[in-house]
Amino acid sequence: TDISELLLSKIRDVADYPEPGVMFKDITPLLADPAAFTALTDALAEVADRTGATKVVGLEARGFILGAPVAVRAGVGFVPVRKAGKLPGATLSQAYDLEYGSAEIEIHAEDLSGSDRVLVVDDVLATGGTAEASIQLIRRAGAQVSGLAVLMELGFLSGRARVEPALAGAPLTSLLTV
Ligand code: 5GP
Repeated sequence: TDISELLLSKIRDVADYPEPGVMFKDITPLLADPAAFTALTDALAEVADRTGATKVVGLEARGFILGAPVAVRAGVGFVPVRKAGKLPGATLSQAYDLEYGSAEIEIHAEDLSGSDRVLVVDDVLATGGTAEASIQLIRRAGAQVSGLAVLMELGFLSGRARVEPALAGAPLTSLLTV
């Protein structure tokens, strides 16, 4: 479709970043292009509307850049999921496994209520570990998950298979798959 071509044309492949052998998908050219950034925001806000989201959760750090305008456009609140140690208030924490080692993310549980339906927004779904842990945090905070929406899914890393059990039937929307 038109929007897929526009979005794809603004994503830059960076070889050997952040380490040798990795082809990094750099979204900064897309952010710098107002037509592309607006089209992306509108497409993700449409997912928020369609899934009945009452909050958007953005995943640090690029999920903040995408999630905040999506929340404003959809007319709902924004809640950040941050790397451990960055949020000042009472947090829920979730650890998850990486290829080498582990990571931990946190949320201010009081910013979600039991009546919230949450759309999780990030730029790239890779292994799915970050998204899976975020969904677990949202459920532990007592809220429902309306879906997971990403700009791009790296199909060869099988993140979809990892997050689908956690989503429990809520939709995973990726605007692009590579
Ligand atoms: P995962 O937990 O799915 O393996 O990794 C997802 C996280 O890593 C996301 O928050 C995403 O921003 C980041 N990430 C992994 N690979 C890429 C990439 O090629 N490009 C960008 N922009 N982010 C990536």
